[in-house]
Amino acid sequence: MSDQINDCLFCKIVRGKIPCQKVYEDELILAFNDISHAAPVHFLIIPKQHIASLYESAQHPTILGLMLAKAGNLAQEQGLHEGFRSIINTGRIGGQEVYHLHLHVLGGPQPLGPMINRR
Ligand code: AMP
Ligand code: ZN
Repeated sequence: MSDQINDCLFCKIVRGKIPCQKVYEDELILAFNDISHAAPVHFLIIPKQHIASLYESAQHPTILGLMLAKAGNLAQEQGLHEGFRSIINTGRIGGQEVYHLHLHVLGGPQPLGPMINRR
């Protein structure tokens, strides 16, 4: 196994080396609560396979589709019946902190406000 994968925080969560609050799991994807909630409901959907970012995901259309397709179902299960926001931060400019592809799903009773602060 390469060091990149060995050292990857989310790969460790996939392997059960670091605990998580699991929301959903199947053979290919895992969803768990974000450790630092930015909204009343905030979970992450990740591929079990290590893909560093959306920038490097052209070879993985199936897993990308599965991640997106699952977001609505899981949001419903979490009570987000009036909508939610899904975000994939990519690279330094996108503010990506963990270099294992992940889709944020955020929501709650109140509208989330503007997507980004406009300058
Ligand atoms: P990003 O900035 O898009 O890379 O987001 C990384 C997210 O991972 C942040 O929202 C963190 O709060 C979250 N995070 C970091 N460590 C953990 C962890 N051990 N369990 C759950 N979420 C985590
Ligand atoms: Zn990883």
